Amino acid sequence: MNKLFGLLGHPVGHSMSPLMHNDAFIHLGINGYYHAFDVHEEKLKEAIGAFRLFNIAGFNVTIPHKVAIMELLDEIDEEAKMIGAVNTVVNMEGRLIGYNTDGRGYLSSLQKTLKKPLSGSCVLVIGAGGAARAVATVLANEGVARLTIANRTVGKAIQIKENYQTYRQANIDVASLQEAEEQLSIYDIVINTTSIGMSPNTEEVPIFIDNAHSDAVISDLIYNPIQTSLLIQAQLRGMKTHNGVGMFVEQGALAFQLWTGRYPDTERMTQLVLKQLGGRTC
Ligand code: NAP
Repeated sequence: MNKLFGLLGHPVGHSMSPLMHNDAFIHLGINGYYHAFDVHEEKLKEAIGAFRLFNIAGFNVTIPHKVAIMELLDEIDEEAKMIGAVNTVVNMEGRLIGYNTDGRGYLSSLQKTLKKPLSGSCVLVIGAGGAARAVATVLANEGVARLTIANRTVGKAIQIKENYQTYRQANIDVASLQEAEEQLSIYDIVINTTSIGMSPNTEEVPIFIDNAHSDAVISDLIYNPIQTSLLIQAQLRGMKTHNGVGMFVEQGALAFQLWTGRYPDTERMTQLVLKQLGGRTC
């Protein structure tokens, strides 16, 4: 019998996760089917009840449920607790266990671009929303030399720092976007985790990179468009860039592994996603 997997969010109509996971089930010969469930905030509790009733094997969680889901689960993995959000749930013999693969997925994708350890790097995270929480937590766990979180609303950056420090010691700075822009030359890696530059507002940039040093890596979590204006500006300056497609694929692959014990072919997943986004397939 097919095992049922899914995505829980609202809206979910444009998600590429069903395409990616269903292809991986077929490719690996696993009897699984992944369906996107469009669930409004007020129906979340009922949806979890239904998932338990129908013994769903595992599911992803996306906006707006990543935080609210936590109190409806039976157990939460340590890193997901530190991040304060869950994006993957595994049904372990009736117990729903929450994980967060966003941070590890990002890290794994970034490391493929960097090809060197992150410890020793000075990193600037721009933004302090849900994605920033995942990225900043794993970077702090990796022990980067310096971690700065810069956000329009500086209070939210302070919250991430203080939340992390309730679990572990870490040297985390916070800054305004203007301060970050002024001191950009000290960073080896600059990461945009805001939605600035996302389609349809593709002309916008979260920060001007004139002060960045020429061998810095500029990374953007956005994957629609694949190359944001921020990345295009960095490329024009001859800098190394990293887009959000890798994170999307890797967080999905890590979730797939938690559900099935098998790590899928991420190159195949990447090609599918790029084709769907209308980008390069090679
Ligand atoms: P979120 O929780 O809503 O956070 C949005 C962030 O963007 C906040 O820091 C917000 O600043 C900032 N922001 C938005 N509009 C702004 C503006 N006009 N000026 C300055 N700052 C602005 O969203 P999220 O879930 O973290 O997602 C953020 C981005 O990451 C999205 O583009 C999403 O597609 C992408 N993402 C990609 C992946 C992937 O797999 N590649 C995974 C997750 C997310 P304030 O705090 O001041 O409002």
